[in-house]
Amino acid sequence: MLSWDVSPNLSSMRQERAWVEINLAALAQNVQQLKGLLNPKTELMAVVKADAYGHGAVTVAQTALQHGATWLGVATIPEGIELREAGIQAPILLLGATNTPEQVRAIVQWQLQPTLGTPKQALVFSETISTLGHRRSLPVHLKIDTGMSRLGMPYPEAAEFTRLVARLPHLKIASVYSHLATADSPDPTIMRTQHDRFQQAIHSIRETGFTPPRLHFANSAATLVDASLHYDLVRVGLATYGLYPAPHLRDMISLKPVLQVKARVTQVKPIAAGTGVSYGHQYIADRPILMAVVGIGYADGIPRNLSNQMSVLIRGQRVPQIGAITMDQLMLDVSAIPDLREGEVVTILGQDGNQSISADDWANTLGTISWEILCSFKHRLPRVAIGQPLETHPQTIMG
Ligand SMILES: *Cc1c(COP(=O)(O)O)cnc(C)c1O
Repeated sequence: MLSWDVSPNLSSMRQERAWVEINLAALAQNVQQLKGLLNPKTELMAVVKADAYGHGAVTVAQTALQHGATWLGVATIPEGIELREAGIQAPILLLGATNTPEQVRAIVQWQLQPTLGTPKQALVFSETISTLGHRRSLPVHLKIDTGMSRLGMPYPEAAEFTRLVARLPHLKIASVYSHLATADSPDPTIMRTQHDRFQQAIHSIRETGFTPPRLHFANSAATLVDASLHYDLVRVGLATYGLYPAPHLRDMISLKPVLQVKARVTQVKPIAAGTGVSYGHQYIADRPILMAVVGIGYADGIPRNLSNQMSVLIRGQRVPQIGAITMDQLMLDVSAIPDLREGEVVTILGQDGNQSISADDWANTLGTISWEILCSFKHRLPRVAIGQPLETHPQTIMG
C-alpha cells in the first residue's frame, strides 16, 4: 500500500529523494467540471482502478465522492476491498471479469458489484450465492460487446442474455452497459456504429418486457465529446486525473493534471569535455558542463527509453537529462544554473513557474498513451497529498 503524507508544507518530505505529489484541489476541480457537463440526473463514476491510475485509490475515491462522484469503478476484487476497508460505502463496480465461486463469495462479503458478460458466469454467481443463505439479491451489471471486442456478450444476444440473468435467483440486474473502442478518435464512425448497436441491444431488451434500471456507455472521451452518450452514468478515468484523452477534446472543459513527480539533486559536479556519462557512455560531453545527479530512476517508473530525450524543470527552467537513466538515479546538464545546490527540488513531471512537462509529452516521445505513463510510477515513490480542498478533513484521507 501507499504511504500517505498529508502535510501541506511537505516538511516531512525533506528527507525524501523522490516523491509523487497529488493535487487534491485539482482533482476536486476536475470532478466538478465533469459533473457540470452532465445532466443533473446523470451520475458520475470515478474510475479508480490500478490504484487510481497510480494516484492512490483511497484518497482519490474519497475526494471524488466529496465533489460529485457517486460511483466508483475498479478492475479487481482486491482493489474494491481496499476501498471498503478504508470505510468507503459508495457503490463499487468491478469492471474486470470475475468467474470463480471464491470470487463470488468475496464480492458478496465486501458488497462489490460484478460485471457479467457470459451466461456461464451468471450461473456461477447465482448458484454460489444460493449456498450462502443470503436473502438479498446481488446487484449485477450486464456487459454488452458492441465492438470493443473485449469483455461482454455479443450485442445480437443481449436480449436473450438479459432474460436469462433476470430469471436467475439471487441476482438483480443493476445496469446494462457497453464500452467504446475509439471514442478518442477525431473520426466518430466506429463510435457511432457502436452506439447504434447499443441502442439496438437496449431496444431488444426492452421488447422482452424488461427495463434496465440504468444504462451506461461513456468513458472520458465519450463524456467530453457527446452528451447523447451519457445515459444514466458516465465512467470517467483519465479526465478525473486532469488529462485529455485526445488533443481535439481540449476545448470542452479546463482540466488540471493531478499528479506531479519530484526528486532532489543529490550531487553537483563539473564534467570535462570528452567525458562519458552513465552506463554505456550514451552521452559524451562536447564541452565542459556542470552535471547534477538526481535521486530517481527507472525503478521509480521513469521510462528508461526517455534517456537523452527528456528534460526536467529546476527553478522554473527547462534542463536536459543526459546519459542512460539508471535504476535509481539520472543525470542532468545543469550548466545553465551554475549555483545549483544539492537538495534542490527537480520537477520531473508537472509544472514549475510557467513551464510544464506533461504525461502527454512523455507519451508522445515514447509512442504510447498518457494512461500508461500515469500507471507507471512505482510504490517506492511516496504519494504526498497537496492542495487540499477546504471541505476535506486531513484525518479522513490518511490511507
Ligand atoms: C478503464 C475504463 C474506463 C475509464 O476509461 P478512461 O478512458 O480512463 O476514462 C471506463 N470504462 C471501462 C469499462 C474501463 O475499463
